[in-house]
Amino acid sequence: MKPKKTKAKKATQKRKCGLCGKSRNLTKTNCCDNWICDDEYKYVIFSYARNSCHRNHNHYTLCAYHHTEQHDGDWKECAPCRRSFETEIYVWYGTNEYNFEKLPNPPAYEPTKCSQCGVIIVLSEDEYSSLGKEYFCGKCTQKRMRQRAHQTKSLEN
Ligand SMILES: [Zn+2]
Ligand SMILES: [Zn+2]
Ligand SMILES: [Zn+2]
Ligand SMILES: [Zn+2]
Repeated sequence: MKPKKTKAKKATQKRKCGLCGKSRNLTKTNCCDNWICDDEYKYVIFSYARNSCHRNHNHYTLCAYHHTEQHDGDWKECAPCRRSFETEIYVWYGTNEYNFEKLPNPPAYEPTKCSQCGVIIVLSEDEYSSLGKEYFCGKCTQKRMRQRAHQTKSLEN
C-alpha cells in the first residue's frame, strides 16, 4: 500500500503568520519569504520586548542574519554563520520559536557559567555581562559594579 499524501493544497491554504498563526496585517520576510505579522511598530524602542514576530525573526534568527550578511547557500549549513556566534547563541538563534525552520542538528555546547559564583547563565534569557572570555551573572555583575563604585569613591577621598 502506498502511503497517502496528506499535504494540504496550496490554493486553499490561508495566509497566516508562520510564527504565531495570526492572519491580519501580514507581510513577507525578506530573508525566507514567509508570511509574518507586520508588527514591528508594536516594538517600543530600547524596551527589548519580544512581542513583535517580525522583529523577533529579524533580530534573533540565523535565517535573518545570514540574509543580512549576504552569505551564500542555506543558513543551516553556513560556516560563516557558525563562526559568528558563541555556540550557545548560535544554537538558540537556530532553534528558538522565532524560526520557521529549525536547525536540524544543533551542536552540543557546555553551559556558560558565571566566573564568579559558578551559576549557569542562559545567554538568551538571563542578564549577564562579559569580560573577554569571562561571564558574570546578573547578581555578580551588580556586585562588581558596586565594588567598582566603592573603589573609585575611596580613591577620591
Ligand atoms: Zn505573528
Ligand atoms: Zn527568515
Ligand atoms: Zn550564513
Ligand atoms: Zn555569579
